[in-house]
Amino acid sequence: MKILIVGAGLSGAVAGRVLAEAGHQITIIESRPHVAGNCHTERCSDTGVLVHVYGPHIFHTGDAEVWDYVNRFARFRPYRHQVMSTSHGAVYSLPINLHTINQFFGRTFSPEEARRFIEDSQADRSITDPQSFEEQALRFVGPALYEAFFKGYTEKQWGCAPSELPASILKRLPLRFNYDTNYFAHPFQGMPEDGYTPMVEAILDHPGIDLHLETPFDADMAGRADHLIWTGPLDMYFGARLGRLGYRTLDFERFTHDGDYQGCAVMNYGDADVPHTRVTEHKHFAPWESHEGSVLYRETSRTCGPEDIPYYPIRLVKEKAMLAEYEQLARAEEGVSFLGRLGTYRYLDMDVTIREALDFARGFVAAWR
Ligand code: UDP
Repeated sequence: MKILIVGAGLSGAVAGRVLAEAGHQITIIESRPHVAGNCHTERCSDTGVLVHVYGPHIFHTGDAEVWDYVNRFARFRPYRHQVMSTSHGAVYSLPINLHTINQFFGRTFSPEEARRFIEDSQADRSITDPQSFEEQALRFVGPALYEAFFKGYTEKQWGCAPSELPASILKRLPLRFNYDTNYFAHPFQGMPEDGYTPMVEAILDHPGIDLHLETPFDADMAGRADHLIWTGPLDMYFGARLGRLGYRTLDFERFTHDGDYQGCAVMNYGDADVPHTRVTEHKHFAPWESHEGSVLYRETSRTCGPEDIPYYPIRLVKEKAMLAEYEQLARAEEGVSFLGRLGTYRYLDMDVTIREALDFARGFVAAWR
């Protein structure tokens, strides 16, 4: 079958590869001049630092098959993600762990003491079924830690009150009563040695895949294919006829520094009066390399306009209602499948994106055998 895939990010590349290996004829078009979507990486010619061009991407998963899959296309180096947060003039480690709690409250709690302290004197136990981000925070860490680490950061990141956001966003972060400062709890974690772009190029390197960069979608191309896989924004496939689905976009103020600027890969800023959410120092994402110079991004978040790059789907009540209508249109569209973060309008980590692309493509192969 002749299949046209729109977008050469993780979804398009993985689905394309599985389908090409099954004997389908794949054409992938990508509007940008590079593959890998928002996990694109590029070496800085001045400093030699591998830069995560669209912001930091850390590969972590509990899915052994997905881990094997990415390791087939890139050599992964061990990487342990640690995040620091500056709040009210002090530096703490995230996710909230025993060190954070002891430092914040000036105590020397053991794990059990800290658990009891948070549960008995901080957590709001009147909240039995937290629905919003704010309720989830107040229920599990209480108002002081919420205000210091989550409230201001989340208002800046999402542009709305945490009481309007779903609890699922905060559930991404664990709360630990030990000194484990690994940001993720997944068993498999690492970074592709040469960055994500060579990994995605390797996935796309198959004789059954024809890749065209800097090629926008046009309807005639779709007409020549037997099936279309759309990994661009769901609403844009339909010309935004029901309105635009809301996203947050990011602005990166890039700057360089001689030596080590902040001593860690990610420094978050919890205070509401600091305009940026975080500063990322890219050489620390590749700790096996050594560079004198340093490349940094100062990151701020704002509403995504028509010309901006969409990053985080907002998914508030209004967006969810519109999404349901677009999903209905998508289901009615014959010969078209919608895939990935933008194609399904969801906050997806890279491993889930790959898992869904593998499952989709295998299902497709089985159905058309
Ligand atoms: N968050 C926060 N303070 C922090 C880090 C995260 O309030 O210092 C909240 C924020 O709302 C964020 C969410 O937790 O959107 C999930 O954090 P994660 O680190 O997973 O965000 P990502 O790296 O995907 O932007």
